[in-house]
Amino acid sequence: MTDKTELSDWIKAEPVRSRLTDFPVQRRLVLKSLAAVLASGAVPALTIRAYAQQAGSHQQVFGDGTLTVVSDGQLVLPGSMVLPESIDRSELSAVLDEFGMSIDELRPDCNITLWRQGDRHVLFDVGAGSHFMPSAGKLLENMEAAGIDPYDITDVVFTHAHPDHLWGVLDDFDELICPDATYHMPEQEWDYWSAGDTLSKTPENRQAFVAGAQNRFPAIEPQLNLFRAGQEVVPGIEAIDTSGHTPGHCSFAVHAGSEAIVVLGDALTNVALSFLKPDWPSGSDQDPHKAVKTRLRLLDRLVAEQSRIVGFHLPHPGLGHVSKHDGGWRFVPA
Ligand SMILES: [Zn+2]
Repeated sequence: MTDKTELSDWIKAEPVRSRLTDFPVQRRLVLKSLAAVLASGAVPALTIRAYAQQAGSHQQVFGDGTLTVVSDGQLVLPGSMVLPESIDRSELSAVLDEFGMSIDELRPDCNITLWRQGDRHVLFDVGAGSHFMPSAGKLLENMEAAGIDPYDITDVVFTHAHPDHLWGVLDDFDELICPDATYHMPEQEWDYWSAGDTLSKTPENRQAFVAGAQNRFPAIEPQLNLFRAGQEVVPGIEAIDTSGHTPGHCSFAVHAGSEAIVVLGDALTNVALSFLKPDWPSGSDQDPHKAVKTRLRLLDRLVAEQSRIVGFHLPHPGLGHVSKHDGGWRFVPA
């Protein structure tokens, strides 16, 4: 595996960047050679599977396709940034304790879903990249370890444009990580982050989120497809309005034959609070009251339809379903 951090540090010290622009081609060659070794049978299949699991990915057959969850690492967040301010600390601790979480600091996993069905290889979000937090941005190395070639991705579908979902769209050479993909984004989300007055309307401690999105959008734009909630983004994948976390946030129902799995994004983020106390406003939602309504509506739908789910920030790999429990809900891991 390439040591991305050391390599990128060295590259960034280089005054002339253009002589290094052939790196994506080199990366592709490395991946192709790896694929050739795997195809030759030189490495026993069992070893490959064990390696993939260790390296932070999880794969399962689903309907007529394959669903793979690849880890982007995890976030390290101060409790004050994400936990509801209005709830008594002891009440909050009581809910979090059962799940081994503290009110001081949260460490949510980051799960990126890859859906492969026929020739279509759809990646939901692209992780944080190397400019957000050292504990995140592991997508490319975990894809390489699992033998997934970013050049094979046909579609990237964004749930929203927060850093941990969007910033990984560019590699350390400012190249799109999936050069051949169409990039799909909710229209409302694109419009919000692109607007000229969004930066000045955003609290200072989150202005980097706006700048980060605006710096990356021009690279995506030539390959962009905007969609609206309720539309089919690509065949079999339906966008669901789960706004509140951000103005245009969408989740996605992936249909495979008679089965469906909902890729949640950040509509349900915390394995304790989002399910047991979905009516508590969360500091991580841009519109906390709208996000509460969204969570309640979504939880009802997921139970009624008995959908399987995959949650971006639920404990890795984030797969499971929702069950009714004691007048509330629970996440039941697969
Ligand atoms: Zn997130």
